[in-house]
Amino acid sequence: MNPLAFALALQGSLAFAADTNSHSHPATLATHEHGVGQLNLALDQQRLDIELEVPAFNLLGFEHQPRQLEEKKRLSLVYQQLNQPLQLFAVKQEAQCSITQAQVLNDIESDEHEHEHEHEHEHEHETHWNIRANYQLNCQAFERLTQIDLSPFFKAFPNTQSLQVQMIGPNGQQGIKATLKDSLLVP
Ligand SMILES: [Zn+2]
Repeated sequence: MNPLAFALALQGSLAFAADTNSHSHPATLATHEHGVGQLNLALDQQRLDIELEVPAFNLLGFEHQPRQLEEKKRLSLVYQQLNQPLQLFAVKQEAQCSITQAQVLNDIESDEHEHEHEHEHEHEHETHWNIRANYQLNCQAFERLTQIDLSPFFKAFPNTQSLQVQMIGPNGQQGIKATLKDSLLVP
């Protein structure tokens, strides 16, 4: 059993999903560009929703079905890391955030149709795929959630140079390009 695959999807409940047709393909990357990715955050009172989508290369260092044992280990390690969002998206302890839902998906396992589509165009040798993760957190003392630090994510996955962040919170809607050097978000 894969302990990371939570049965309940939360895309449908994300605030920023409301105006996109995102039931089957939430947070779809506009372009698949290695080194960059998309991060959506929505803070509404105690509830913090986080949606990540990045090329698998950014996290794994490869983009094919894991073959050797080493690649399988890498995939399972990355799943473990992704399933602990508070280790990647750091919030102050005073905000008392806990994870209520976590879901990790990767296209190569979850989207056979797209995979087949790639085959039709004979790009099998250069198949690209994304990894997506959705989280729902509950922050008891949300008024103390004054910043979210993405630097642990960039340190864990150095193949990710930048994340395009869309954030909705008490300060309104913000679009930010986050990097290791510029990793602090103020919701
Ligand atoms: Zn790729």
